[in-house]
Amino acid sequence: MRTSFVSSLSTLVLAAALAAQATTPEPVDAKAVAFFLDEGLQRSQVMEHLSWLCDVHGPRVTGSQNLQNAQKWAIETFAKMGLGARAETWGPFGRGWKCESATMQVLGDNPWPVLAYAKVWSPGIARTEAEVVHVGAMTKEALQAADLAGKIVLLDDPRAISEPFDGTSRRFTDKELQDMAEQKPVEAQGGDRRAAAARAAADGRSGFQRREEMLTIVQQKRPLAIVDRAGKGDYGTVFVQGAAAVNAPGTPREQRQRASAAGAEVIPQFTIAVEHYNRMCRVLAKGLPVRVAVELKVSATEGEVDDRNVVADLAGGDAAIGGEFAMLGAHLDSWQSGTGATDNGCGSAVVIEAARLIAEYCKQNGCKPRRTVRACLWSGEEQGLLGSRAYVKQHLGTAEAPTGEHAKVAGYFNLDNGTGRVRGVYLQGNAAVAPVFQAWLAPFHAHGASTITVGDTGGTDHLAFHGVGVPGFQFIQDPVSYDTRTHHSNMDVWDHAIADDLKQASVVMASFVWHTAQRDAKLPRQPVAPRTERTPGAGGR
Ligand SMILES: [Zn+2]
Repeated sequence: MRTSFVSSLSTLVLAAALAAQATTPEPVDAKAVAFFLDEGLQRSQVMEHLSWLCDVHGPRVTGSQNLQNAQKWAIETFAKMGLGARAETWGPFGRGWKCESATMQVLGDNPWPVLAYAKVWSPGIARTEAEVVHVGAMTKEALQAADLAGKIVLLDDPRAISEPFDGTSRRFTDKELQDMAEQKPVEAQGGDRRAAAARAAADGRSGFQRREEMLTIVQQKRPLAIVDRAGKGDYGTVFVQGAAAVNAPGTPREQRQRASAAGAEVIPQFTIAVEHYNRMCRVLAKGLPVRVAVELKVSATEGEVDDRNVVADLAGGDAAIGGEFAMLGAHLDSWQSGTGATDNGCGSAVVIEAARLIAEYCKQNGCKPRRTVRACLWSGEEQGLLGSRAYVKQHLGTAEAPTGEHAKVAGYFNLDNGTGRVRGVYLQGNAAVAPVFQAWLAPFHAHGASTITVGDTGGTDHLAFHGVGVPGFQFIQDPVSYDTRTHHSNMDVWDHAIADDLKQASVVMASFVWHTAQRDAKLPRQPVAPRTERTPGAGGR
């Protein structure tokens, strides 16, 4: 892997950084690394943290009481480890919402239960029996003429299912990691990367646009409920997120955000198992009726509520740089159908465990980190990195108007790609940091973490830091079943988290943060891209 790393990154910055590395190799604290490996692999508490966050307090939707309880538990847990922990409020976010119960049953002389999940911010429905109508195959004109009041509307076409002959879980192959390591810096990809993105968007747009138009027309007809079947998932795995508000302009994310606003009009919306969805469509296509009894009990706040980020500090002891920060974080909020295990209970449990490893090392060696180690658990990530962006705005300002604290952050490390073990780190285009991370990864090659790619990864909270010019990084993780089974699904539960992977990730995270805290200089920064080039609203992975 080292050879492919060296040959791939050809930029001057990298060459210069390597030259510097050759002369003054980046120091690695072997004693601390040995401790993290021993304590983190032999006496790990990461799965216990995860069980509290998921089995006891999951799911943790932003604005919900569950999330508040999980934040309280995390603050108490950090405090027991010797960190000074608190909740920092941001907001208002929107309405708090929780599903108390949701049932859907096909009626008639051949009744059957439907595996159905309510979308967040759907209003409740008292037990109602209603006719099911499939509009997926309707023309726009036929739909505009249809009477859907009081009906249960199936929005999409049936979806063909293919058997998972290749399995649903996987790890990165050496070839894939090699390709990542040899990836060219983003700017060098320029035309083809943007062209590829534009082509993908264009392809998706036609089908998506038609669906959005259909949804808008259906909403205006005020049916009893709108039901869909998600674009992936089968064998009982149902991918489901938030409801869209009526007449809400903009992207699905904006429509969902609007749904959480006080006073928003929302038609109850469900996602059901694709097998159940397809069966209803096939029966209706035979001209036979389908009648369903549906009941949805929810508890939602009238008005909009604030939410909080958990911020926990292990104070730095160095007179000169003790006031600077080595940061780690993950989002604690989740969607509602599972218990938010791989997204992102895993990242949160790893952050708590990495903080424990560092605090335990300091306790057993009677020392302090040089810089303050700050562990953060964000909320509002699924709705657009709302919590981490609020923190950055409050603490660090903007790239154009940075606060004093902006210059004090040595680096920020995020984890938010599921349960998979760390295979390396994305440089987010910051080639100057490559030799530093190469040295810090060396002790973990034997544990599967050796890849450095200059490429970037999006969609989560490190972008809040990266966007204002503070070095923010996300680790490369094995995909396992993240996209195929757990990410935003009802099967996102503790049982699909892999203990050995999370132990390894906690050790690597602890080591990177420790070295960032101990390093003489902060991690090199790259010039901030002009505002126009920065992706404003991305996020929510
Ligand atoms: Zn996530």
